[in-house]
Amino acid sequence: MGESYHRGRFVDDADAQVSIRSKAVNYGLGCFGGIRAYWNEACEELFVFRLDDHIERLYESAHILGLTPPVDRATATAAVLELLRRNGARSDHYVRPLIFVDSDELSPTLTDVPIGLSLYCQPLGKYFADESLHACVSSWRRVSDNAIPARAKPTGAYLNSALARAEARRNGFDEAIFLTGDGSVSEGSAAHLFLVRRGELISPPSTEDNLDGITRRSLIELARSEPLSWTVSERRISRTELYVADEVFLCGTAAELTPVTRIDHRGVGSGRVGERTTALGERFRAVARGHDDAWHHWLSPVWNPR
Ligand code: PMP
Repeated sequence: MGESYHRGRFVDDADAQVSIRSKAVNYGLGCFGGIRAYWNEACEELFVFRLDDHIERLYESAHILGLTPPVDRATATAAVLELLRRNGARSDHYVRPLIFVDSDELSPTLTDVPIGLSLYCQPLGKYFADESLHACVSSWRRVSDNAIPARAKPTGAYLNSALARAEARRNGFDEAIFLTGDGSVSEGSAAHLFLVRRGELISPPSTEDNLDGITRRSLIELARSEPLSWTVSERRISRTELYVADEVFLCGTAAELTPVTRIDHRGVGSGRVGERTTALGERFRAVARGHDDAWHHWLSPVWNPR
């Protein structure tokens, strides 16, 4: 049994609890993050990927919901590193920070209520079982930023993700692709989407009702930088572009970079994992695991803090 951070201190996992009366359970009032840490065998070090950016997004999510976290960003950042140390993390791990309305009173309110911050972690290998996915365009539309802020990571919004994912699984697909209410491509159920067409890497911007994504931003930067130096554009994508793309992949903290080789029973490009997907995936894995000194500023070491 490991430890979690709950209500201002580290406790046994079993003691990190909320009541069935909790507003967070009943109404999904809160927001969260998802952070990966990669074990580097050669350095005997665990590197947290873009920790500061994840904490910044978490605090931006809270700000969008109008919630004031109980501690400042520096305290939350330090708590993530301490959590991994307390859990003896010497393998790839996932950290889940959660800011939530910590009240058991009846009404769904975001004001004048205590706000909690909790953190837990677990070992995490690959998120998708298969090397490449068969995705469908969901009949569920992505929640609009004006209904439940899609740019943020509100807990309640994951009903939208879960509905799309459940429909996809029940229909025999691996994953769902959301369209926005207007019918353009938004993102996967918990991952962003890129496609390659005529040599260009294309991804819908975060104004398309998708999360302000850290992996997406990282991949755009890596793709534009040497040695790849590719052309990347962020623009609206229509559904049928998915069917004529040369390559499609999903990306996210948990999903990492996962190729999509079939969409709605149509092969994508050659029907096999494409060259660009493979090359960018290799680049990303090398950088995230600390094999490229030029990108060490994205990494926070857990065991020998700088
Ligand atoms: N979209 C959604 C809805 C997600 O939940 C996630 C996972 N955080 C992503 C995209 C990927 O974002 P990131 O790269 O920041 O993990």
